[in-house]
Amino acid sequence: MTETADAIIIGAGVHGASLAFHLARRGLKPTVLEQHAVAAGATGRSSGLVRMHYDIETDARLAWASFPYFRDWGERVGGDCGFTRTGFLQLVRPAFYDRLRANVAMHQRIGIPSLVVSADDVRRLAPTIAIEEGAVAAFEPESGYADPTATATGFLAAARGVGAHLVQGCRVSGVTVEGGRVSGVETDRGSYSAPIVVDCAGAWAAGIGRMVGLELPVDVWRHDTAYIRRPPEMGTSHPTVIDDENALYFRPEGRELTLVGLEDGSEIGGSPDRETASTGAGFGERVAERITARLPAMAAGTLHSAHSGQDGITPDQRAIIDRAGPDGFYLACGFSGTGFKTAPAVGACLSELICDGRASTVDVTPFSLRRFAEGRPLVGEQPYERIWR
Ligand SMILES: Cc1cc2nc3c(=O)[nH]c(=O)nc-3n(C[C@H](O)[C@H](O)[C@H](O)COP(=O)(O)OP(=O)(O)OC[C@H]3O[C@@H](n4cnc5c(N)ncnc54)[C@H](O)[C@@H]3O)c2cc1C
Repeated sequence: MTETADAIIIGAGVHGASLAFHLARRGLKPTVLEQHAVAAGATGRSSGLVRMHYDIETDARLAWASFPYFRDWGERVGGDCGFTRTGFLQLVRPAFYDRLRANVAMHQRIGIPSLVVSADDVRRLAPTIAIEEGAVAAFEPESGYADPTATATGFLAAARGVGAHLVQGCRVSGVTVEGGRVSGVETDRGSYSAPIVVDCAGAWAAGIGRMVGLELPVDVWRHDTAYIRRPPEMGTSHPTVIDDENALYFRPEGRELTLVGLEDGSEIGGSPDRETASTGAGFGERVAERITARLPAMAAGTLHSAHSGQDGITPDQRAIIDRAGPDGFYLACGFSGTGFKTAPAVGACLSELICDGRASTVDVTPFSLRRFAEGRPLVGEQPYERIWR
């Protein structure tokens, strides 16, 4: 028997969940099909940083439009997404100080609470940090991190409350097209008909694209993270930090642990189906070296645990939010290791694209698929190095 829905969303990561929430609020009855379980992909492994600092305005706008959801989750969505305000510091190498100032000015212009701070300010905010005299940093007092799994499950619980449907353990094996328009999907649990199909399949997105003849430039990006038990002198918290100079980022995880990821060494390519329980060789040693360069007291820390995760990455490390291929086929993929914090606004934008023909929350036309074929990769207005290298 064929089940029917107003829209089929492939993937119950944070993007499929956010889209389901926003479509359901528009009165549609979407069905989310998930091959494993909610947040089984990148979302469940995400470091969950919530910050607005980007070197490109559209990304900053998406992050800023998403921020109120995290801050006011109980009223906007319901329940708790685990948002923890820690303050956020962006550190860059001296060659990028002018660009950092320009980026903060851009953030301020669009309303983001952000300011340029001195090395002394940074020491006041994070007394255990090592920072050179004369350094400057960007500081976002409102930012922090959230729980990505709770975010996805929260969106889906709210969506189901107003008519969305979730099917877990259901793998999409084909997208059906009739007369140039999508008509539904085939799965290992039967077929579904719907006039709209959305590829929210994360690291698997290119495979879904091929089902409608689209070659999506979305590769698999594998990223390791470690949790370090802080020594007592580090205290019970610290700001969330992206430290471009040492190519790492870190944030507290509860009162005792610090989550650390590295900007370099992430592997590109391979199967999206690989296990993610193990990290690459030497990862723990590299984390220890980098984190102690910025937080010397962490030399007395101990490794609590480490694992990996996989997201879809595009050649310019920016998302694809678009309609493409047969009528009724939409893309929200290629989030390139930074798509958690923007998911609330991306879901809102995509629901507007689907229901109204254009996104009004934020103009997402820069995230078109055709930019790759046309040789117009997205680059920041005041660009830093690519985040993943
Ligand atoms: C280790 C790591 C750390 C990160 N840290 C941050 C961070 O700090 N801040 C930030 O903003 N972003 C971060 N990101 C990026 C962010 O987590 C991702 O961009 C985001 O979670 C992607 O969500 P998604 O819904 O697009 O994909 P996913 O969460 O991967 O969901 C896709 C889902 O589709 C399902 N699926 C695939 N194929 C099929 C099929 N054929 N049929 C049915 N279901 C299918 C999968 O099982 C999966 O559950 C990180 C990513 C990783 C991996």
